[in-house]
Amino acid sequence: MVTLAALLIFVVYETIKTALFPELSVISSHVITVIVVAVMTFFVSRYALNRYSQALSETQRQTRITQETNTLLAGVLATMREAVIIVDSQMRVALYNDAAAAMFKLPPKDAGRPHAHLSATIDDGLSEREPQVINNPTAAAGDSPSYRLTSVTRDPAINSAFKSVLEDKAPVELQVQMADRDHRSFQLNVASLGDLAVGVFFDITQLERLERVRREFFANLSHELRTPLTAMLACSETLMDGALDDPDARTRFVEVLHKHATRMSSLISDISDLSAIESGQFELSLEKLRLRRVVSEVVALAKSQKAATDISFSISIPDSILVEADRTRLEQILYNMIDNAVKFNRPGGSVSISADENDGSVAISIEDTGAGIAALDLPRVFERLYRGDKSRSRKTEGAGLGLAIVKHLVHAHGGELTVVSELGQGTRFTFTLSSAAHAAEQAG
Ligand code: ATP
Ligand code: MG
Repeated sequence: MVTLAALLIFVVYETIKTALFPELSVISSHVITVIVVAVMTFFVSRYALNRYSQALSETQRQTRITQETNTLLAGVLATMREAVIIVDSQMRVALYNDAAAAMFKLPPKDAGRPHAHLSATIDDGLSEREPQVINNPTAAAGDSPSYRLTSVTRDPAINSAFKSVLEDKAPVELQVQMADRDHRSFQLNVASLGDLAVGVFFDITQLERLERVRREFFANLSHELRTPLTAMLACSETLMDGALDDPDARTRFVEVLHKHATRMSSLISDISDLSAIESGQFELSLEKLRLRRVVSEVVALAKSQKAATDISFSISIPDSILVEADRTRLEQILYNMIDNAVKFNRPGGSVSISADENDGSVAISIEDTGAGIAALDLPRVFERLYRGDKSRSRKTEGAGLGLAIVKHLVHAHGGELTVVSELGQGTRFTFTLSSAAHAAEQAG
């Protein structure tokens, strides 16, 4: 076509030249022709060169944008805690991030590879162009071998979710549990991206655990409230059915009524206290306190309880120790722990309270000679409404809120709370507070 056009132009040019200059010699005619061709070639090539350099800079701009986008995407994918897997139409893994590599035990990608890989993948996915890298099995994972999704995970639910998205292009959402990942639970969202399917795995194990704790809390709470209420109903009915006329029975039933009402009242005040503490709706009024004095007062109160009659107490706290704490809250912490040390002790057992000052911090320990706490229960004793050995705990009163409150109060003071226990030997709870002497020194 171009040759034909050039030939035509040449014929027209020769005709015009011969018509205009019929006398021209052959040499002059050739010279003019060469000049005309040279001038035309110059203009045509300048035009072509311009177009070419424009196209080149446009291509370079596009490439730079793609590279920047891919670097950004690769960075986002790499920092994502959620595992991301992209599979091609042949169910081969085309791309995965580090979280997915850890989750499915795939080799981690090096820094350079995901970019190049991602570039081809995302391009193919977003534009309608022929997917080059994805359809090439060796290139699909750079130099590494390509993986079929079925070899990455044998979970049939995951595989069929990706398959259905590739076939129907409609997004799929499901929950999966990974047996080889400590039975962690994931929500898997798979969506279509051109010829590809993208799956994102959200770890919902913690959410499920919180939901379970919440459910258990309400179940325990209603149980704790129902027990005294049932007793109170039974007592009042017995009184109405005639026990009111029997002076002995009357006194006994009113005492039982009072005991259960007191229990309900303390349970409700503990719950409202705990929820205020947990939501941060309380303020500490810190002051310099002589620890030994506060402990002695709390021990005196604990000793006056019926359960403490055959328990011996020892306090080993140097008089010089001063702590910086909220008096009422410190008493609450100590009372809860000493009350436990008495309640869960053996008959004739002992409770020792000691304190040590070290490096600006005071560690206070409450040790008992009770039955101890099973290793399995130890991490759970600070949970709300948790009571260890149910059969044993049923004999003792208490809702299982004491230590949950103590934990929050110790943390609010900036301290730590630990527990060590040996079954049959006893338990030692230790918490730390700031030393007021140290704080004064620093301020001075
Ligand atoms: P509450 O404190 O609300 O009256 P509680 O004493 O049962 O009830 P927590 O103080 O929170 O609740 O203690 C939770 C559980 O931890 C107890 O039920 C008990 O099983 C276990 N526990 C706590 N302290 C001791 C201890 N010193 N020795 C043995 N077990 C203990
Ligand atoms: Mg308690």
